[in-house]
Amino acid sequence: MFLAFLIKYAEIGVKGKNRELFEEALVKQIRYALKRCEGEFSIRRTRGRIYIDVLSDYDYEETVENLRTVCGISAICPMIQMQDEGFDKLLDAVTDYVDGQYPDKHFTFKVHTRRARKNYPIESMEINALVGERLLEAFPEMRVDVHRPEVTLYIEIRERIYVYSIEIPGPGGMPVGTNGKAMLLLSGGIDSPVAGYMVAKRGVKIDAVYFHAPPYTSERAKQKVVDLARLVARYSGPVYLHVINFTDIQLAIYEKCPHEELTIIMRRYMMRIAEEIAKKTECLGLVTGESIGQVASQTMHSLAVTNEVCALPVFRPCIGLDKQEIVEISEKIGTYETSILPYEDCCTIFVAKHPVTKPNLNVIKRHEENLKDCIEALIQKALETDELIIAEV
Ligand code: ATP
Ligand code: MG
Repeated sequence: MFLAFLIKYAEIGVKGKNRELFEEALVKQIRYALKRCEGEFSIRRTRGRIYIDVLSDYDYEETVENLRTVCGISAICPMIQMQDEGFDKLLDAVTDYVDGQYPDKHFTFKVHTRRARKNYPIESMEINALVGERLLEAFPEMRVDVHRPEVTLYIEIRERIYVYSIEIPGPGGMPVGTNGKAMLLLSGGIDSPVAGYMVAKRGVKIDAVYFHAPPYTSERAKQKVVDLARLVARYSGPVYLHVINFTDIQLAIYEKCPHEELTIIMRRYMMRIAEEIAKKTECLGLVTGESIGQVASQTMHSLAVTNEVCALPVFRPCIGLDKQEIVEISEKIGTYETSILPYEDCCTIFVAKHPVTKPNLNVIKRHEENLKDCIEALIQKALETDELIIAEV
């Protein structure tokens, strides 16, 4: 069994004081992920490396699965570690490790030693040669290939000695908390949870807002969004989800504006309200799951008209992705199954048969004038319905 993990992280360009902050945030997120795992762990941070020591019985699969949700981790390397008890002991340990790890020994390999502790009596190159020799003796099926080995066996000589050969990919990116906070417009669909994940992966903390329209949208539709927020929270940390009652605004638009413009006008008010909440909660931008051309409300013309109500930047990480590509990400991050549950969201009820695909901003604004007597009060009222749900794993 493995007794420790080496955590590798990407973004090597991060330097100096920022690197310190980056590592601290990463450790914090690793702690958050490990809290969900059976067992006792301690995290050590030494000279640009993060190690997790396993201090009790633990569930290997569960631990790896949870570590794979930590943004900023590029690879998780399960490893054995030992005190320095002489080179013969090291040779034995490496041989046992390879034997246990690879039942089938028909593979090519090389040994890569890093001697960070320079007073170790044997030099790296020599260690590589001696360990390689020993392995070939013990397992004649193995073959050396120093250029393109199937297995690279890493030996690190520090205060302790570490041996590993497996690198399990993490999500990459940057640890959440290193890049401010954004407000995700989270619906029950496939795209917006993916958008939230993609922004979280760049180190951004996520708050979310969901507009529901009871009784036109069900309690189950709302629960689905809470569940999605929880799934995103595996990656982003706890998500503060604001649930806003949008019914009256939607009815007013339905009553007073041309039906082919419903979605676009509705979207503009969603953005406006989301921006209000974002400003109050110190979010630096909005995030949506929009992708160019996916539906009528996401043509370039429609996006431009929607965008026009916001002063805050609107980030649309799915913008250039096809539906299939978005689906693939949602499957990878585990939101797909929940996203495709069939509960109506407010957009699917109030849709027109022939929505505009090339809305004109001036025309839209003129039609919004129909709402001028009631809309400000309705927005205030909607903001007062704000129900805060903390979605976490
Ligand atoms: P998704 O799969 O994210 O629901 P979609 O393809 O269904 O997206 P739309 O319904 O047009 O697209 O919505 C576009 C974007 O607007 C969504 O990705 C989301 O960010 C936001 N949005 C739509 N409906 C809501 C809602 N009820 N509450 C909050 N945000 C919403
Ligand atoms: Mg939707």
